[in-house]
Amino acid sequence: MTTVLTPASPLTAADRCDRCGAQAYLRVVLTSGGELLFCAHHGRKFEPELKKIAAEIQDETDRLNAPSTASDEEH
Ligand SMILES: [Zn+2]
Repeated sequence: MTTVLTPASPLTAADRCDRCGAQAYLRVVLTSGGELLFCAHHGRKFEPELKKIAAEIQDETDRLNAPSTASDEEH
């Protein structure tokens, strides 16, 4: 697997799940060069398929458990 040169910028509240529009906690960089965003729910749901097509998966779902998170947005 090759290293992607895109710097890993943290996901923000403005990043939204491509499937449901909830706040995104996973960024999936595709081997084709595209990029997908998923909430924790859909990230887990599609994880097996994503691993087949992803060059890199940036997983920030652990931030969901961080007590410092001001808004616990669910869907
Ligand atoms: Zn979602």
